[in-house]
Amino acid sequence: MIGRFETLMTSLPDTAENEARERAGGWLRIDLDALKHNYTLLKSLVGPDVAVGAAVKADAYGLGVERVAPALYRAGCRRFFVATVEEGLSLRPVLPQDAALCILNGPTPGSEALLQARRLTPVLNSLDQVRRWSALCRGSFDRSTCLLQLDSGMSRFGLSGADLDILCAEDLLAGLDVTHVMSHLACADDAASPRNEGQRLRFEALRRKLPATLPASLAASSGVFLGSAYHFDLVRPGYALYGGNPSPERPNPMRPVVTLLAGMVQDRWIDPEVAVGYSARFVADAPTRIATLSVGYADGFHRRAGGLASAVLPDCPDIALPIVGRISMDCMALDLTALGDRPLPPGTGFELIGPHRPLDDLAAALDTIGYELLTGLGTRFHREYIESSS
Ligand SMILES: *Cc1c(COP(=O)(O)O)cnc(C)c1O
Repeated sequence: MIGRFETLMTSLPDTAENEARERAGGWLRIDLDALKHNYTLLKSLVGPDVAVGAAVKADAYGLGVERVAPALYRAGCRRFFVATVEEGLSLRPVLPQDAALCILNGPTPGSEALLQARRLTPVLNSLDQVRRWSALCRGSFDRSTCLLQLDSGMSRFGLSGADLDILCAEDLLAGLDVTHVMSHLACADDAASPRNEGQRLRFEALRRKLPATLPASLAASSGVFLGSAYHFDLVRPGYALYGGNPSPERPNPMRPVVTLLAGMVQDRWIDPEVAVGYSARFVADAPTRIATLSVGYADGFHRRAGGLASAVLPDCPDIALPIVGRISMDCMALDLTALGDRPLPPGTGFELIGPHRPLDDLAAALDTIGYELLTGLGTRFHREYIESSS
């Protein structure tokens, strides 16, 4: 119902909605249809025998977990990954009870009983976490599920080979209901890296130390594209669901989910030798049309983007309009000279990220990754969620 209502709001020229957008200065359009399409695409890639979970940590990569997670549930997702106990607690009431909610960073000391009471599923990353969870499970009839993480070479989370020997010698898994053993790839975005196979083989070797063969999970977004040897029983994509390119060497197979538009406040022609913005980092060398857009670094748009990135008008996407000068806290300057004298009313929206300005291209220009751009998106935007049916 809500989805349909919001679609009406976004597809009809609704004055109230337009005014709300303009008041915000910048607006973020999140296409839940594209999100669900991406989920289905990944599901079809791994086939019927492999489950597809979703990484929704960090507020679903900044896109709003309260809208994103239920949309993924409607697309068929039944396993969700967040980083912290706190994220799990706030997501639990948003999803039906049959959705498993996994805490990647594991139980914090003392949180075990709360995790069990709220039906949250910890990933156990260390002997310490295993011991604490097993102490809880020994004292209760409720066999709460957990995942066990093995360190296959990233040195971040998970049990080492030596830890596994202790785990087996002390029979620490007795009484635990481990649904999956998992690990994480460090270099999956570089399909040519020999470390991928190295980690996969190490993961297999570690798994064999365990008393029983348990279902396994290794791949996140990029790992899905390394081939079926990496899929095991469950994959855990995040970035690709949100439209990011999981295989940077190849064209992006995912549909864009995020569009970021910045509203224009004013524009003017400046003469040669006139400067723009803080520190006068840009000086016009010819008559130049400069627009001020209502998005700045406080909105997560990196201060260094001036001179490195561009925007477009969605109705003429072939004309790149460079961002010039230093980005300010609340605004930036755009060089509109290529548009000549085409009249543009205040409030005109320029695309900074979206179908014509891919997230991954902007990230590359700023020497970072799309993950950092998404999770850095600020809280001032007017957010619109597009969903044709729910
Ligand atoms: C974040 C994360 C994922 C998802 O990674 P993407 O690259 O966004 O697909 C999967 N597994 C673990 C352990 C993670 O930390």
